[in-house]
Amino acid sequence: MTKKNEGLYFVLLGGADEIGMNMYAYCVNNKWIVVDAGYGFLNDDYPGIEMCYASPEFLKEFSGDIEALFITHAHEDHMGAVAQVWPSLQCPVYATPFAVGLITERLKEYKMEDIVPLQIVHAGETIKTTSFEVKFVSLVHSVPETCGLFIKSEYANIFHATDWRMDEGKLGNAVFDSKSLEEASKEGIDMFVCDSTNVLLDHEQPSELDIRKNLINLIPNIKGGLVATCFASNITRLESLVLAADAAGRTPILLGRSLQTNVRIAKECGYFKDTPRTYLPEEASNLTSDKALYICTGSQANYRSALSIIAKGESKYVKLDKNDTVIFSSKIIPGNEDKIEHMQEQMIADGVNVITEETAQIHTSGHPSKDELKQMYELLKPKIVFPVHGDKRFIREHKRFASSCGVSEVCSGKNGDVFKLLDGKLEKVEEVFSDVIGVDRGRSVSLSSELIKNRRRIAYNCSLFISVLISADNRLLDLKITSIDILEEQEWEKLAQETKEKVFHVLDKEIQEKGLTSSVKDQIKARIRKEIFKATDIKPVTILHIFKQGENQCQ
Ligand SMILES: [Zn+2]
Ligand SMILES: [Zn+2]
Repeated sequence: MTKKNEGLYFVLLGGADEIGMNMYAYCVNNKWIVVDAGYGFLNDDYPGIEMCYASPEFLKEFSGDIEALFITHAHEDHMGAVAQVWPSLQCPVYATPFAVGLITERLKEYKMEDIVPLQIVHAGETIKTTSFEVKFVSLVHSVPETCGLFIKSEYANIFHATDWRMDEGKLGNAVFDSKSLEEASKEGIDMFVCDSTNVLLDHEQPSELDIRKNLINLIPNIKGGLVATCFASNITRLESLVLAADAAGRTPILLGRSLQTNVRIAKECGYFKDTPRTYLPEEASNLTSDKALYICTGSQANYRSALSIIAKGESKYVKLDKNDTVIFSSKIIPGNEDKIEHMQEQMIADGVNVITEETAQIHTSGHPSKDELKQMYELLKPKIVFPVHGDKRFIREHKRFASSCGVSEVCSGKNGDVFKLLDGKLEKVEEVFSDVIGVDRGRSVSLSSELIKNRRRIAYNCSLFISVLISADNRLLDLKITSIDILEEQEWEKLAQETKEKVFHVLDKEIQEKGLTSSVKDQIKARIRKEIFKATDIKPVTILHIFKQGENQCQ
């Protein structure tokens, strides 16, 4: 990006038209701040890739001028990639205590906890950098201490709030700080960067307090073994489950490492103060199943999560029997529908009662519906609404809705877009490099790299290996065609043999006449692939190995 002096520049690096891998950068007078560094979630199109995040490559060239990374809250899609992104930024990282606790845990996995300068910020505090003043404004969401950022600068003021909702229930420290929002509004908000996750919902959803009451009413009426699952970082919900266990005379037992880590950090931050103590499964081995409430992660049916292990009957702590109950105090993250349904059906087939948000009011979302969005526009009175944090359909609807509410300008973009905001006018001025980096068993790899493209090609088109033995005077002595994923073994043996017979003499002639030129090598692959395609309709990824007699190496 060329240096420009006037105006505020807003760069979308991740999360612009999707849910996940949030990362945005702001620049004034060539000094930068970055908001969030989150993970994204992938479907089965990327075999072997666990997670992904927005590439920080673009920011590298400004690393001396990046003054802060602000983390809005402790969800993976906002802070999960700090370890991967920070080396490109090399700046202090500001977050609220619970987020700092979870980020520290993650940094320990990469032995980076002593390298990354993490700074604790409390809601209401303001951090000043050379070109910006950033106030952390407390909002309500499904993880403690979520903040919107009121970003002030010489040229424009921004309110950046991906992930929030309104909730009058006021549980724990979940405060929707309307006083600070009103003050920000009075100072003037040029642009509101806003969550689009629930824009398709019309009405406000139940309060977290309602969910607490419902769980406390529901759980004492359940007989037999009981397991409840929710998101590990939803500390208020976990507290509600612990209170419900207490009301039912059950002991709350935490299953799974991520849940235990989240609860430990939450306790260090002062949560779970007014709830009975929780137990580890090892401490509660003498309890009968009707005296325990096992709380675990795995609501998304992730492979090897505590709940998946229980569902498969492989848990050493919990065996689900007929008439036991599993409560899903969670929503389905889009893309996980099939996995979750499969797991729940397996439980139901085993005679287990499954209670979900469809059958009881035991979950509420942390994102704003249309009602809440409208109230927020009225509170903040932004000149421009810039929807992010939703796929394209959601962004379109959010733009339409904001316009219908009287917001004078609505705008959206895609990752890589650079916008300039000056004198209340927003214009797209540039597109810069953006990419998605996958985490492949601990290694980082671009999802647009040849490696990943080949992996996808192999997943869809199979693989073919051709081995050719050639004499010193360029005669074809032998040809072996192998594959493990095109046909069943016997069928393949037959096809490989037939193919060999068909092409052997032609290839022999070609090699004798022209030698092993690169075009002859291409011919070998092309002729064999053509036969395989004719028989199977598959165009496999093909690897050719050539062995020449008298030479002690493969070609
Ligand atoms: Zn989010
Ligand atoms: Zn969130």
